[in-house]
Amino acid sequence: MTTFDASPHVGQFYIGGSWVDPKSSDRLDVINPATEEPVATIALGSANDVDDAVAAAKAAFATYSTTTKDERLALLDSIIGVYTSRLGDLAAAISAEMGAPMWLATHAQAAAGLAHLATARAVLADFEFEEQRGTSLIVSEPAGVCALITPWNWPLNQIACKVGPALAAGCTMVLKPSEVAPLSAVLFAEILDAAGVPAGVFNLVQGDGQGVGSVLSSHPDVDMVSFTGSTRAGIEVARNAAPTVKRIAQELGGKSANIVLDDADLAAVVARDVQSMCMNSGQSCNAPSRMLVPAARMEEAAAAAAAAAAQIVVGDPQGEGTTIGPVVSEVQYDRIQRLIEKGIGEGAQVVAGGPGKPEGLDTGYYVRPTVFANVTNDMTIAREEIFGPVLVMIGYEDDDDAVRI
Ligand code: NAD
Repeated sequence: MTTFDASPHVGQFYIGGSWVDPKSSDRLDVINPATEEPVATIALGSANDVDDAVAAAKAAFATYSTTTKDERLALLDSIIGVYTSRLGDLAAAISAEMGAPMWLATHAQAAAGLAHLATARAVLADFEFEEQRGTSLIVSEPAGVCALITPWNWPLNQIACKVGPALAAGCTMVLKPSEVAPLSAVLFAEILDAAGVPAGVFNLVQGDGQGVGSVLSSHPDVDMVSFTGSTRAGIEVARNAAPTVKRIAQELGGKSANIVLDDADLAAVVARDVQSMCMNSGQSCNAPSRMLVPAARMEEAAAAAAAAAAQIVVGDPQGEGTTIGPVVSEVQYDRIQRLIEKGIGEGAQVVAGGPGKPEGLDTGYYVRPTVFANVTNDMTIAREEIFGPVLVMIGYEDDDDAVRI
């Protein structure tokens, strides 16, 4: 069993190459969703903290933007080396902050961050910053100071897939990770510090959407915002960024349709996709959450899905053999329960799981892997992102009907 001790830097911010105490006095407990107990307390930053971090990033941009490709490659190599040496710590932090089972936290969550850094390095190695076209020289320049705002569901994956490319491009940045899962981000900042990232190039300010996210999105000295999260917050980011005409990159919520064709090996495909839907407790933007099956074979498909759901072991993230841990928070748990009840109320058929916690798991935000069959596309559970281990199965008449749905 892996134990988790939060970093001593957890209550601080990383600004201008140093760990600094926050200017704000607001604090937030980080809750381990498996125990419902606090594992650490972070500071929630304010506009003053954001101003300091943006100023540090702006000052560092003057020199970092002029570094050579070889210098940036060496920096990424150094980060990859330190990150690799701390994979175990990163996985333990992710598991404690958002409940991923250790196998997933290690081999998917923490590993994905490493893969993004390696990809950024590989892209940079082959990237031509200058291209002569006729009499024109086209130069790709770094965008400037970037605000990176990330969600809790794949915390390091999202952080590394923003920080790696920004470093490769010659940008400087302020990261605001999710306040729900902020602990792995502290370790990530320690890694960048140990790897020799120059002061001010990377800055970390903890906080919530209102106190830090919206201040970053509207800040006059931020040139670009890269945001991953809910559609609701994405709209606010775009609105706040508009008056200063920032570049914005967004990856928002999803309700991915998954069409199982009539000639598929139904039992095998449905079983595979139930597993893939439930991975990470269903908390992935690309989870195949709406399964479309031939209407005439709904009963057969539902039976296969129910059998697959019964194989999913819900339990302690530290436990051997756990397929999925809890969902991230009480808020998410309550939301998922409401949507399950709504599905039942609107007439969808529960063929696996249902409301409430799995037997024997009274503490922790555990959700029963749930499958709804005979869902129609107008039902709430077919339209809203549930973000839990809940599959909806919708029947279609023919391929055109599936596409229409
Ligand atoms: P969220 O939108 O609540 O929060 C995401 C981040 O935005 C957090 O850091 C939060 O503090 C910040 N934020 C909230 N309000 C803000 C505001 N007004 N201005 C600026 N920042 C603000 O999302 P979440 O609950 O953390 O994550 C789950 C959502 O993220 C789901 O909808 C999921 O589909 C989506 N997501 C999408 C992708 C993708 O690649 N498309 C990947 C992961 C998650």
